[in-house]
Amino acid sequence: MSDIRNPALYESGERKIQWAARNMPLLAAISAEFEKTQPFRGVKIALSVHMEAKTAQLCRVLARGGAEMHVTGCNPLSTQDDVAAALAHGSATDAPLDVYAYHAATPEEYERHLIAVLETAPNIVIDDGGDLVNLLHRKLTHLLPQVFGGCEETTTGVMRLHAMAADGTLKYPVIAVNNAKCKYLFDNRYGTGQSVWDGINRTTNLIVAGKIVVVAGYGWCGRGIALRARGFGARVIVTEIDPVRALEARMDGYDVVPMTAAAPLGDIFVTATGCRDVITVEHFDLLKDGAVLCNAGHFNVEIAMDVLEGYAESKYEARQNIVGYNLKNGNTIFILAEGRLVNLASGDGHPAEIMDMSFAIQALSARYLLENRADLTAGVHDVPEAIDEKVARMKLAASGLAIDALTPEQEKYLHSWA
Ligand code: NAD
Ligand code: SAH
Repeated sequence: MSDIRNPALYESGERKIQWAARNMPLLAAISAEFEKTQPFRGVKIALSVHMEAKTAQLCRVLARGGAEMHVTGCNPLSTQDDVAAALAHGSATDAPLDVYAYHAATPEEYERHLIAVLETAPNIVIDDGGDLVNLLHRKLTHLLPQVFGGCEETTTGVMRLHAMAADGTLKYPVIAVNNAKCKYLFDNRYGTGQSVWDGINRTTNLIVAGKIVVVAGYGWCGRGIALRARGFGARVIVTEIDPVRALEARMDGYDVVPMTAAAPLGDIFVTATGCRDVITVEHFDLLKDGAVLCNAGHFNVEIAMDVLEGYAESKYEARQNIVGYNLKNGNTIFILAEGRLVNLASGDGHPAEIMDMSFAIQALSARYLLENRADLTAGVHDVPEAIDEKVARMKLAASGLAIDALTPEQEKYLHSWA
């Protein structure tokens, strides 16, 4: 039975879900199809994704398709207690779901909730960052036999799965939802590009125009964050470890330097690498007094928070979700949202229309996994091209956009060598 912070908050959560739902036409169409065909009838799904309104809508769509849903969050700070309450309460159209999630859960509470959804013995496991897959393979191996497979939402989760597959540890097939074009090209780039600045701006209430913004990592997220920083009128500096991506950043018009050179220049730093210690002890004393630091990548290790805690002389809450660290050199640097994903821990995450595409891929991948489980080996699998194309076409139609189609002559021309 559900374990949530405050069931009385359900009305506010329901309003958030309804607002998101009316801006998620792809999930609405998939929901109508699932309601008719009931692909998940008799199937248990455990889900660990940011417990906010867009995720709630995904949970409801899967439940309408017949799934027995057991759900939790994937980050203690991104859980919205009112949304968790609404999902657990149910609505006029949707049955209550089994929800285990608290905002600001302690590490013990967070793990207890992950374990609770796994102890329902799920057939499909939907992860964002791999917490469920990890627990299943480390501590709850007795629950592996009835798992048909899983889906993984984010870049770092997919990287961890590849590492598990490489050493033969991964015991079931997982669909790499992140690697679908309709996911990373939109969610990681435009979703992160917008929601990271939404998180920074609403948290700091400071101007971006005229400032120097340092973006660490020029992957899909970094590209979006840099693009929107420039749009706000910032001068953007990129740091990278990959020579090709560094060159791309340079030709996109940004300065490219190592972090030690960027540290004394930046006013606002955003890490988006999936790596650790990107800003650490060798950089802290180089930073300007008043520098603002935040993270958009997986987990709170890109800015070395544990090192900073020991290194700073003292700290204080400067504003909600902003902690000032007073350094021995007399400077104060400000960390947003404890160095966790700023867009989700200090905002509502990506916009509904973006999560509509990502979660359309999730829902269709979960059905694909179920229907093709006999042929899918343990390991990491790409989202089928047909699903990617279906979602792109649905999104075009929902956006009122039409495109051309090849004539038979064009088709022949493109495929002939003569
Ligand atoms: P990506 O692989 O496309 O890009 C990461 C980039 O960081 C690469 O170009 C890599 O070379 C670079 N990099 C790695 N280590 C570095 C270091 N020490 N210094 C500088 N650059 C370094 O990945 P992505 O899709 O952009 O995702 C980045 C991270 O963000 C992942 O952890 C992912 O899970 C997470 N993510 C967050 C959100 C969000 O909502 N905040 C959305 C999608 C992905
Ligand atoms: N558990 C990790 C997860 C990384 S989050 C952590 O907390 O550090 C990165 C993922 O969050 C992205 O792949 C994106 O698809 C997802 N995301 C972004 N905004 C979201 C939203 N509003 N609702 C649900 N998921 C969201």
